[in-house]
Order: sequence, then C-alpha cells, then structure tokens
Amino acid sequence: MAAKAPKYVYAFGGGTADGRAEMKNLLGGKGANLAEMSRLGIPVPPGFTITTEVCADFMKHKGAYPAALKAQVDKALAKVEKQMGRPFGDPANPLLFSVRSGARSSMPGMMETVLNIGLTSRTLPGLIAQFGDERFAYDAYRRLIMMYSDVVMEKAAGIEVERDQGIRMQLERILEEKKRARGVQLDTQLTAGDLKDLCERFKKRIQEVLNKEFPDDPQEQLWGGIAAVFHSWNGKRAVSYRKIEGIPGEWGTAVNVQAMVFGNMGEESATGVAFTRDPATGQRRFYGEFLINAQGEDVVAGIRTPQSINEIGKSDQTRHLSSLESAMPKLYKQLVGIYKKLEKHYRDMQDIEFTIERGTLWMLQTRVGKRTGTAAIRMAVEMASEGLISKPEALMRVKPEQLDELLHPMLDPAAEKAAVKLATGLPAGPGGATGKIAFTADEAESRAKTGEPVVLVRPETSPEDVHGMHAAAAILTSKGGMTSHAALVARGWGKCCIVGCGALDIDTANRRLTVNSRTLGPDDWISLNGARGVVYEGKLAMLEADPEKNEDYRKLMKWADQTRQLLVRANADTPEDAAQAVAFGAQGIGLTRTEHMFFAPDRIKAMREMIVAETEEARRKAVMKLLPYQKNDFVGILKAMGGRPVTIRLLDPPLHEFLPKEERLVEELAQELGVRPAALRARMEQLHELNPMLGHRGCRLGVSYPEITEMQVRAIFEATAELTRQGERVMPEVMVPLVGTLQELDNQVEIIHRVAQEVVQENALRRLPYTVGTMIEVPRAALTAGQIAQTAEFFSFGTNDLTQMTFGFSRDDIGGFLPYYLEQKILPDDPFQTIDRIGVGRLVELAVQEGRQTRPDLKIGICGEHGGDPDSVMFCHRAGLNYVSCSPFRVPIARLAAAQAAILWPRKAGKKPGKKAARKAEKKAAKKTAKKKAVKR
Ligand code: PEP
Ligand code: MG
Repeated sequence: MAAKAPKYVYAFGGGTADGRAEMKNLLGGKGANLAEMSRLGIPVPPGFTITTEVCADFMKHKGAYPAALKAQVDKALAKVEKQMGRPFGDPANPLLFSVRSGARSSMPGMMETVLNIGLTSRTLPGLIAQFGDERFAYDAYRRLIMMYSDVVMEKAAGIEVERDQGIRMQLERILEEKKRARGVQLDTQLTAGDLKDLCERFKKRIQEVLNKEFPDDPQEQLWGGIAAVFHSWNGKRAVSYRKIEGIPGEWGTAVNVQAMVFGNMGEESATGVAFTRDPATGQRRFYGEFLINAQGEDVVAGIRTPQSINEIGKSDQTRHLSSLESAMPKLYKQLVGIYKKLEKHYRDMQDIEFTIERGTLWMLQTRVGKRTGTAAIRMAVEMASEGLISKPEALMRVKPEQLDELLHPMLDPAAEKAAVKLATGLPAGPGGATGKIAFTADEAESRAKTGEPVVLVRPETSPEDVHGMHAAAAILTSKGGMTSHAALVARGWGKCCIVGCGALDIDTANRRLTVNSRTLGPDDWISLNGARGVVYEGKLAMLEADPEKNEDYRKLMKWADQTRQLLVRANADTPEDAAQAVAFGAQGIGLTRTEHMFFAPDRIKAMREMIVAETEEARRKAVMKLLPYQKNDFVGILKAMGGRPVTIRLLDPPLHEFLPKEERLVEELAQELGVRPAALRARMEQLHELNPMLGHRGCRLGVSYPEITEMQVRAIFEATAELTRQGERVMPEVMVPLVGTLQELDNQVEIIHRVAQEVVQENALRRLPYTVGTMIEVPRAALTAGQIAQTAEFFSFGTNDLTQMTFGFSRDDIGGFLPYYLEQKILPDDPFQTIDRIGVGRLVELAVQEGRQTRPDLKIGICGEHGGDPDSVMFCHRAGLNYVSCSPFRVPIARLAAAQAAILWPRKAGKKPGKKAARKAEKKAAKKTAKKKAVKR
C-alpha cells in the first residue's frame, strides 16, 4: 500500500481550523495566526494555508508540486465554497480569493500578493449581480489584472525590466491617461464604463508586451498566484531583506488562499491596521489607522494619509478626518473586544489587520507587532506589572540590541529651539539624526559607504528601497502613515524616521527638495527629531543618550541584574571611559589596554627613546621616564572604579607601531632623539616584521625587555600603594598578554611578584592587593590551560586573537574575503563579531574545564569584542565564565543578554527559571565577588 501523503494544506474559518498558533514553522506566521483566530471564534474569512514544506519542495524540484497537493487544495477549496455559499468560478455567484505569502517571521511587503482571483469574463456578471454594483466589479477586475500581470506574468516568469518600465507601470500610465482624458483626479471618480474600457486596454497591452493572454480561467489564475508567491520567496527584495534580518533561505514561505472580503464597497466598508499598544512609545492604548472605502493594501501602501482609528489617536495630520470610533461606533466596539481578546490570548502586543465589508467586520491578520526598543521596554515592564506576563518573560521580550536605541543620540533640544523648522510629519522612528539629503536608495547606499551621513528623502518608500534605508542615518517621506512601509521597516530597525511629511515637495529627478519656501539639494544638511516628527534645516548638535532617565529601562535592568549569573565588566583605557562604564552598570574593568597611553604627546618621545636605545642601560633610563605617567594613568582608572576589580594588561603591540612611518617624520624624530637618521632607519629595519601579528609582541616583549614589564608593574603597584594609603579600596589584576607556554607566564610572573615585594618594602606596607593572570588568546594556551592555571589566578579570553589564530584569518585583512564567505555560506557570521562556537568555542570550553581542574576557583572572563555580542554572551554563560567584558556602550546589552542566558539555561541543573532562582543565583554571585575581594595577598 502506498504511504499516505503528508498534509500540505490546512483549512481555517467558521470557528474551526486544522492548524494552531504554534505551527508557525509549517504554516508561516500569518497562516498559523489565521488558524488560531478562527479557533478563538473571531470572524476570519475562510481559507486554507499551503505549507512552507511545499515551498521548499517547489524550489527543490524547479517549480513542480508534490503529487498530492492538487487533491488537497481541491478539498480545502470545496470547504470554503461551502462555508461562503459561493462556488469558485461560478457565473452566477462567484467566490473570489486572495493569495498571500506568509513566512515564519514577518517580512513586511517583501513578497507578493494577488487579490480578486477568480474574476473572469464569465464570473464578472455574477459579481455585478451579487453586489449590484458594476463599478465595483470592474474596479476589482482592473486591480486583479494589474496585480496579476505584474506578479505572476512578469516577475514570477523571471522577466527582467528596467525600473519604471515593468508592465505594472505601463498599466498605471494607461490609468493616468484615462483620468486625464476624463478630467478627473482620483481613481474613485472613474465610472464603470471607464473601468470596463480600461480592463480591455490593459489586457491588450499585456498581450502586446508579454506576448501572452491574460488568463480567463479561475483555476489557472489560482495556481498562477500560488506559484508566484512561492517564487517571490527568492525575489530580489525578499533575499535582500532576509540578508539584513538574518532569516535563513531554507525556511520558505507558506501561501494563504482566503475568501475575498471587500473594504471598498462604499461608505459602509473600510479597511485598517491597528496595534493593541502604541508601537512607537509602548503606551497602553489602542492605536491604528484605517481608510473608508478602500481595499487591503491601500493603508500600508502609503498613498492616502489614513484616518485615526479612535479619537485619542488623532494627530495634527488626521484631526479633520473622522475616526472609526465616531464613524462606525458599533463596529469599533466589536474591534475593541477582539483586540483585547487577542492581546490577552497571545500575551503580547498584536499588529492586526481588518476589513469591514458593508457593515461586517472581518479579521485578516494578527501577529506580534514590531516595536521600537523604547516601546519594547515599556511594554515588557508594564505587561509584567499588569500580571499579563512574568518578569523572566518581560526580560525575554526585549532584544538586547534594542537597548541600543535608548543609548541612541538625540538632537540637542537647545539647538532645536534655535533651528529653522522646515516641516512636521509623523514620528515613526526613534532618536535624532542628521545628514545630507539622498534622493534615492542607491544614492543613499553609495554615499553612506564613503562615510557620509545621509538622510534618505523619498515621497514614499517601497521594499525596493530597503538597502538604502538601511544605509541611511534616517528616513524621511512626504506620504504615508505610521503603518506605511517606511514606518514599519524603520521601527523594526530602531532607526530615526519621519513619514507623511506633506509639506515636502520632492523632485527626485533633479535632486531637489522644496519645503517651506526653501530649496535644498544633495549637499544640504537636514536634521530629524524622530520622536516628535520635526524636520530642521542644517546640521544640528546631537546629545548623547541618557537611558538612566527612563524609569522602565531602570526597572528592566534591575530585573536583569537580579537574574543574571554572569558579571559584566567593561574594556576601558581612561578614567573617563571607566566612569562611563560604571554609569552603564559595569562591575569592573576586564581590560585596560596600556599601549594607547604611550601615544600621548607628553610621553611618546620617551617611548621612542626606549625603542631605539642600543644598550639595556639606555633603554632602562628611557623606560623609567615613563613611570610617573603610567602611575598617574593607573591612579586615575583605579580610583574611578572605586574598589571594583581592574584588569590591567601589560604592553601588547609590536614596538614598531610606536615609530613614525613617513620619511619626513623619521628625519624629525632622529633629530629630536639626537641620533643619526641612518641609525634610526637601521633600528627600524631591525624591528620590521613580515607577520607582526605573530611577531615580537605580547609577553614576548616583556620576556626580551624585562625593564618594560618592571616599569609597568611598578607603576601599577605604586598607584595601588598610594591609593591604599589614602584609604581608597583598589583591586588591580595584572594581566600578561599573548602567553603560549607556562614558562613565558612564569618568566613574567617572577618579575611581577619581585617588583610587588619591592614596592611593599619601599612603602612599609604589610601587603598589596593584587592578582596575576593571563590572556588566553593563543590556541596553545587554551590547549595547555591546565598547566597555565598552575600560575595564573585568572584567565581572560582574548577572542580577537584567539579567533585570528584558530582560523588563521588576519583580523585586519578578513574584509577582503569575508563578504564572499558569508554570501556562499562558508561562514554563518563574521567570527570576529559572533564567537565561532564550534571551533574557537571548543578551545574556550576546553580551557575552562582544564583550567578549573587545576585551580577550582580560577576566575574566568572574556575581553575580546565578543564580550558585547548577545549571542556570544549567551555562549560565555553556558561555558561557565564568571564575567564578560565589553565596550562601555555595550554594557547594558551584555547585562540583558546575560539575564536571558540565565533564564534559558539556569546554571544550577534542575532549577526552573524564575524570580526565586534568579535572586538566589544573584546573591551567590555577589557573595562570591565579596569573598574574592576580601582575599588579599
Ligand atoms: C583579544 O585579542 O581578544 C584582545 C582583547 O586583545 P587585543 O584586541 O588588544 O589584541
Ligand atoms: Mg589580543
């Protein structure tokens, strides 16, 4: 007996459904949620979903469907016919369908949709009779022809056309001509006769251009639509969006075939989009937009400025238009009931789409709404306070990267007051931005690549523009509402954006923007306040963000700190950076790179003297000139950290980095140092290395020039002694870089302890508080961690070098081939950004395990760039590290990522994530830190 075919088609509607919300991978987000709404008894036009597996199969078999699909579609279609009481293709009472995409993760506007499928020369009279409206029927038909010829007959057929030369634009031009000939401005002013004539002209043009007849058979239309949606998964827009969002190409899209309902059947009909909470601010209020007498895509297309759904949501732009609340109060009340039910059921903010067909409300979609970072934090905190979700859930609701937005700069309010206000639009994306005007997406992308900050200014944006929107510092449009394409995309990215700024007159062809009697071009600066929707002329001063002023942020971060089991430190080289790090919640410094300190004008000369010195004596003399400066550096940093641990790394880069490169400067330096230029050049020649990254650097410097290590540790210990005498609590941790063997470390540690002893005696102290450890950044160090831990009291993974040496990729030259590696999926991510768990991660795990076998209380952290990458922070938690260290601005991101890791993988086996477990873990971590602090040498 043949095996039963898999289920490819899932029906929904009429209060039942084959699918459920949890089946997103198979049914896509839209399909799964349509099924769920149907189960909840919410009015959903009946239909069926063809699974994402069929998409994968379709791609694999070059456009062929699994054999069992047709029969399953026929069966589901018959069910819809029964529920709607109208047969598909019936001349008297025809059923029409919409065919839409629906991936696992929402990709707004990136794939194709075809509406009104099933309208043919035979069914048209039936539709006219059904609704008694000839104009409406021909309008529906001309929309079908326009969409279908574009999506199915051109794009899905793989026909490449120049921008604006596609069939759709050609038909749009015929439509415009018609309006001109009839002396009207709006589509709605065309009569049934006009539209009928247009449909005929459209079909003729299609035949001429595409050499194919517009299909007059409902089944052919249906299958053409289904195939086109599948094809659109690999369309240019979708591929480019997936790349930006990191959505895997294997997922595929589902196809939703659903009975058509019409929002454009007169004044009793409408269509709209709404959010159960404000997606920009997170405020708890029903927020949405709608259009009376409009069809589906009109609201999001941004062509007409939509009306507010309720009175409270009216803005200056929509004040004069009636709201749904006042125009259709009963339906508004029904919609309110539904949104409340949906938010409670899904326990998250929903983005919903609805259509009202002659007084009947239909829900077309619900999905978790995209939101700004600010809104995400507010919603998470408030929903937890309302009891809708738990605190761990609230912590999981905010993506660590979203905090970035709060840490975002904004326009300086003082500068705003004095600035020339050009126009006001809708505040669609957060923060402030300033840049020169770019008029097209391509222009924005190419100019941004050269480092020029640009604001992309468009009448409206379309999915074709995403690359330019991504590259721009901000986006500004003259049309569209808060749910327009520009607004949705910018909000998702947390990018500054203003839409619907009607006062702008944008002349893209001539690269001119006229507004408020000013004409601006590509060299002119404009500034945007995305939170208020105000556009200014000129380059306004910006203010650094101050997240601590946001109460919700403070609450969320407090919960994160109570939950996480990893400590978070910062990489900082100056007292200012250290203070900033503490303000962002750093619990110590994980890496102070000392090399930057020698570039200051007051000491670079002594450094160079030391480098060119021919004898040890001369070198020692020069190096000791640096001592007071170094001591000062360490006093500043240790003091700024107020008793928190500070890891100070000994000199790391090769010495030639401190010498000038240009011939002119070499001459100058020779004169300054009182040496012959030829002698200086000879010394430089001697220092030259073919592979400096693998050369005379790190502890190799300290081994061959012990006086450098002596000076640096003396500076650390004298600073410690001085501060201790002043009653300050300090905790320096001396870190030896680039160790590959235990002997290297021992060599340096002997010097460190000897100098410590000298300082203790010179200052008549009983002891000095310090520990000595090493970076683990050479693969050999990771492999011999058990040995190295005999001496090292702590490890800090230098994953920049560890990645470099594990892969054999130069960290400075990876740009030459990384894009190809990513494109061809040879690498999933840039390994210098996100830790390579399989290779580099394995070395980390091994070193943790073997290091702790030797020394159970070994303190372990990470100070490579990965310490601020959320994904890598999660890895560090799981690998059992004590802390991560990252740049000060990434500290809050690491704190939240660490909390999420503790929720997902609580360190104590068997413990459920939750308040109690999190508190206990936090207390334990705090105690451990306190105990460690108390251990003095
Ligand atoms: C590292 O290698 O990861 C590290 C932190 O050191 P640096 O980047 O200074 O080489
Ligand atoms: Mg390094």
